[in-house]
Amino acid sequence: MKAVEVYHGCENGQPGLGIRINLPATVQDLLDAWQPLCDDQTIFKQYARDKHALCKDCQRNCCNTAYVIPDLVSFRHMAEMLGTAYDDFVVRYFQAEKREVGLLRLIPEPCIFLRDNICSIYPVRSLICRFYLCTPLLGQTEQLIYKIAWSGSAATQVFARQQGLVPEAGPGASSFDRLFLGLLDEYRNSPGVASFLDARDYRDISLHHFLEE
Ligand code: SF4
Ligand code: SF4
Repeated sequence: MKAVEVYHGCENGQPGLGIRINLPATVQDLLDAWQPLCDDQTIFKQYARDKHALCKDCQRNCCNTAYVIPDLVSFRHMAEMLGTAYDDFVVRYFQAEKREVGLLRLIPEPCIFLRDNICSIYPVRSLICRFYLCTPLLGQTEQLIYKIAWSGSAATQVFARQQGLVPEAGPGASSFDRLFLGLLDEYRNSPGVASFLDARDYRDISLHHFLEE
């Protein structure tokens, strides 16, 4: 039995995709099961050409508008791949006005790493980038992948504050920023965040931290 299985099904009359987790399983197992979906032309993708194209051919590339706070594994790997120290990395690649209010958002619109409609750091891109798929998700699948991605982002925020890379939330935060900061704070003491803080790789992070009891 595979650690993570993707299944096709129907909910409220709408076809979609779901996942089944067979513990023990790790975030890497989930990524291994999820990645082929980007290259799968049989599944419905709301924004793709003809609703079924490859993500890499997509003209409405979601990287143009994405709000990306990288998870901590990705944050570390990106800095390593770019050969930059963390303080330099955040200054060069993260939005200055968000850093001032304590948030680490990649420079957007389009994402600073998008070149000719292709991600220039593809092997180390963040979980939120890896998981996004414009197709309906079944059961608890969406909640699960957002919980994992948010835990990873919250771990980056905790790490960045520990390292003095960003201040505590500042006075200039917009209501949207405050919403993000509040969500990230909700996650910060969770076992999933602790797991990201200890991990060097997605294989080090068990999915059991993110499953409902
Ligand atoms: S997930 Fe993103 S890249 Fe893929 S088809 Fe949808 S909008 Fe395009
Ligand atoms: S990091 Fe890569 S995949 Fe993620 S939004 Fe930026 S260009 Fe797109």
